[in-house]
Amino acid sequence: CGIVGYVGGQSALDVIVAGLKRLEYRGYDSAGVAVLADGGLASARRAGKLVNLEKELADRPLPAGATGIGHTRWATHGGPTDANAHPHLDNGGRVAVVHNGIIENFAALRAELAARGHHLGSETDTEVVAHLLAESYSSCGDLAEAMRLVCRRLEGAFTLVAVHADAPDTVVGARRNSPLVVGVGEGEAFLASDVSAFIEHTRSAVELGQDQIVEVRRNGITVTDFDGAPAEVRPYHVDWDASA
Ligand code: GLU
Repeated sequence: CGIVGYVGGQSALDVIVAGLKRLEYRGYDSAGVAVLADGGLASARRAGKLVNLEKELADRPLPAGATGIGHTRWATHGGPTDANAHPHLDNGGRVAVVHNGIIENFAALRAELAARGHHLGSETDTEVVAHLLAESYSSCGDLAEAMRLVCRRLEGAFTLVAVHADAPDTVVGARRNSPLVVGVGEGEAFLASDVSAFIEHTRSAVELGQDQIVEVRRNGITVTDFDGAPAEVRPYHVDWDASA
């Protein structure tokens, strides 16, 4: 439903939770965050309103990190439980992914992953992406390329945003039939399903085109299609009133 990603110099958690609040108007049934910190990945997720996630973060604080992702979920596959809330992680706990939309061919992908020994802990269509990304990353060593490899296998509608503990200071995103916008700031960048999530930080935005991948770093962004061909990046100025 709502997606926020951040890489920069601020506390990723603060930026992401504030961004998720700006997206609350869309409606949701669960929320979660993942942050890259100390060479690892830490995450928290809770069914219910954002206050439930905030309480969990107060009871069990995550280590501070400057790269992370967050999600508010509107369940389509699997009920609104803690286990089905995003982000979803691979079995090694090195990859985290958030997703808007529906992966139509998830059942076949789940069966394939289970046959290769993966344990899937949720009922979502989304979780397969975390496992596939972990596999692809181990074979190619590049998160954007891993995302391209995975997206070529997916059918349906999706905005995906992911981080990998072995790729610090990087967030990747992908989209097909579902929106994704990048906010480009000074030494920081944002990904969101909707500009309202980052409007208080930057008004320079790039809308991702159909079937495109973006690699986001503190000092810039790279956009390609699902096959790796570079795409033109045309920033625009967001001029609507954030207080509206
Ligand atoms: N299909 C996914 C799920 O049910 C994502 C739903 C959404 O767009 O929030 O978990």
